[in-house]
Amino acid sequence: MTAAPQATPHCAVCGAPVASDAPRCPSCGLSRPAAQGGSVLGRHGLWTIGAVLLAVYVVVLLIVAAAK
Ligand SMILES: [Zn+2]
Repeated sequence: MTAAPQATPHCAVCGAPVASDAPRCPSCGLSRPAAQGGSVLGRHGLWTIGAVLLAVYVVVLLIVAAAK
């Protein structure tokens, strides 16, 4: 059990504490793509999922309307 899971993330390679918004580890220089573009990628993925769901919804509506 951890008291604060997202308080201070640690480097997966050297284990040094890394700031959550740091693009790379200050100790070993490991690139952290999750922190660097995670929010942008997540936002983009969220919009993509919304667009796909909307497209599926429209296609289903068209199929149901055409079946009648
Ligand atoms: Zn490191």
